[in-house]
Amino acid sequence: MIVSMSERATTEEIAGVVRRIEGLNCRAHVKRWESRTVIGVLGAPGAGREMEELSRSPGVEAVAPLTQPFPLAGREMNPARTVVEVGGVRFGGEEVVVIAGPCSVESRRQLFETARAVKAAGASMLRGGAYKPRTSPYDFQGLGLEALALLREAGRETGLPVVTEVLATEDVEAVAEHADMLQVGARNMQNFALLRALARTPRPVLLKRGPSATIREWLLAAEYLLAGGNPHVVLCERGIKTFETETRNTLDLAAVARARELSHLPVIVDPSHGTGRRSLVPAASRAAVAVGADGLIIEVHPDPERALSDGPQSLTLDGFAELMWSLSEPPRRVAAPRPAATLEELCELP
Ligand code: PEP
Ligand code: MN
Repeated sequence: MIVSMSERATTEEIAGVVRRIEGLNCRAHVKRWESRTVIGVLGAPGAGREMEELSRSPGVEAVAPLTQPFPLAGREMNPARTVVEVGGVRFGGEEVVVIAGPCSVESRRQLFETARAVKAAGASMLRGGAYKPRTSPYDFQGLGLEALALLREAGRETGLPVVTEVLATEDVEAVAEHADMLQVGARNMQNFALLRALARTPRPVLLKRGPSATIREWLLAAEYLLAGGNPHVVLCERGIKTFETETRNTLDLAAVARARELSHLPVIVDPSHGTGRRSLVPAASRAAVAVGADGLIIEVHPDPERALSDGPQSLTLDGFAELMWSLSEPPRRVAAPRPAATLEELCELP
């Protein structure tokens, strides 16, 4: 529900509407648009009679239902795009931001070699997993605290802000102490306890879309973070499960465009997990940029054959530098021969 106040509504009238909304056991989200105030009703406002009373409150011009269930993440109340800043890097601004680094932090040498190379190639942020969500309990689970310390050091040395995944609620504090941005992995997108804990940190959050989550569920997960008090949220499309087996996941680029229509939050793309194949990462990256993505997150490893996780989808250091070059090249030209006649002339033909 969204309450539009009249242009002449006084501060007292606005406060009165807020009190009424709170009296309905809902939260009021007050937003100013140019000379106008709108108030979002967060929660289920109950029966029509109460809403009718609300619409008759002094200063109220109109009460209308919201068409989407995510008032804070959606664009209905927030038509302008949001820029999320992470250590000076701006997501959702003019430029496409590239985050790069290894899937997992494996050693000091591996991390620093990668961090220096991606910085030299033009990356804006460093990624690296310290706590890894692995399908098998026998696979490499990450170096934990040791990796967090290495990430912080590598970030400081290169001047790149760091993003890393937080797997469990009890690790939020330690990860927030070491990293500039906290990643919610795909498998944790609907871990509501984790989302609530992350809503209370001052750190920006990179929210990956769950492998089987709809766009609506993804935006509702973002709503948890915003409603809990953290407005610094960046969405990340990383591929969903379909019947296809030639790619590890199906990179849903239409979802990127749709999420940007529905939400004011920046949306980035992970073509590494989205395809699972090194050979497809450059093409998928260019496609993501073409569809309007605000950034990319790319896995890079100095020796992908020996990587402890996600080697097949990791670019080499040279491969990443080549990708960065290719992103600045203009896309292929679309054949568009100049028409021999105007549409009007063609219509005159027999
Ligand atoms: C990762 O970024 O390495 C990762 C595990 O991603 P996702 O949660 O998208 O699988
Ligand atoms: Mn990975």
